[in-house]
Amino acid sequence: MLKIPVMWRPRGFTREAIESCRDAVCAYNIQTLPVVGLVTVLLLGADSVAALLIEKAQASFWLHLAACVLIAGVCIAALYAHSRKKHKPLVFYALFSAYYIILMFLGFYLGVLTPPDQWLVLTLLFLLFSQALFVVDLRFSVLLNLLTASAFSLLALKTKAPLIREIDTIHVWMAAILALALNRYLGYVILREMIASRRLEIERDHFREESIKDELTGLSNRREYQSAAKFYISVCRHVHQTICAIMLDVDFFKNYNDFYGHQKGDEALQAIGGVLKRLVTEEQLFAARVGGEEFFVLWTENRTAEAERVAIKIRHLIADLKIPHERSTVAPHITVSLGLYMLRGGADATVDDLYREADDALYEAKERGRNCIMLRDSADRSLRMVDILPPEQNVGRR
Ligand code: GH3
Ligand code: MG
Ligand code: MG
Repeated sequence: MLKIPVMWRPRGFTREAIESCRDAVCAYNIQTLPVVGLVTVLLLGADSVAALLIEKAQASFWLHLAACVLIAGVCIAALYAHSRKKHKPLVFYALFSAYYIILMFLGFYLGVLTPPDQWLVLTLLFLLFSQALFVVDLRFSVLLNLLTASAFSLLALKTKAPLIREIDTIHVWMAAILALALNRYLGYVILREMIASRRLEIERDHFREESIKDELTGLSNRREYQSAAKFYISVCRHVHQTICAIMLDVDFFKNYNDFYGHQKGDEALQAIGGVLKRLVTEEQLFAARVGGEEFFVLWTENRTAEAERVAIKIRHLIADLKIPHERSTVAPHITVSLGLYMLRGGADATVDDLYREADDALYEAKERGRNCIMLRDSADRSLRMVDILPPEQNVGRR
């Protein structure tokens, strides 16, 4: 697999972005190498025919022909690897490079490739390298490509050697233009892959959001409560902080539904959810809807008075919504009962313990007439009522 070193990373792309499109780049390279090879075979074929017809150079013809067969072999191997999903582009680049180098030395050794023809092979080798240089920078690879082709043309003009025929110059420029086009397309492939992977990321985040949100209120759901509670317990145990947990339940909500209808009931739950959502940022709380009309609130606070203040604030803000409730015996509007549990720092407890203790305190609040807060402290197991006055007379304490 193509591993891109950090220092080779194209500018502006993060390592993650490059890694995410690595497979696509590999697949692209395997696909385009045969195209490069095919064009090279055609050009070399034309070259060899020209050598045979114009210069009657038989050895040159056979060398070119052997080159064509070699390149065709590499292309077939590349296509085979691609069909087997074995992306090894660097191996093919190495094969191509080795082929050009062997061709050059063989030609030199046989006396077929005189210096101008060697330049041609060298130029093609450079063009191949410029094609592979996309990992450094696309612009760099394009520049090298154009420079190589221009250098060869200048050389051909200056030497006026009979062996550098026009066909060689055409050969080089065609290879250069092909490499340019392929590099530009590669840039497009990288971008497309990066956008696709970013979109996947966003979709994954969105899916995660959906799976931890309660649809009706937009608060966290019971599943997220479980992991949040686990997190609070493990962190607070280590740093010796107190966890405050509130189990909140709407009073006489069955009556409310029966009298006003389910739709109105949903709207009331949404309004209560809205209050809690506001407090999530205002008071740095975690709030979740854990049941039909039951909510769970978590935060850390060592001072009992402060914990009480938050619980009182929640109760009052919900009462202040003044949602009419004719079928409630405690108030003319919707009220809530709260069970507040303070798990003192360093104490060992499970998520279930936290839930059960807060729920027990809530049960007591219901028993004591609803529309109130019961506080259980884990330090001395004491249970007492908080904020005894009804919300209407308690406004000043908010
Ligand atoms: P208490 O004061 O003892 O809590 O009385 P209650 O009537 O609120 O208690 P109970 O648990 O008997 O009733 C809960 C009701 O909440 C039952 C159901 O009609 C209602 N409820 C549960 N989930 C939803 C919901 O998603 N939407 C609506 N509109 N109502 C719901
Ligand atoms: Mg209930
Ligand atoms: Mg209820």
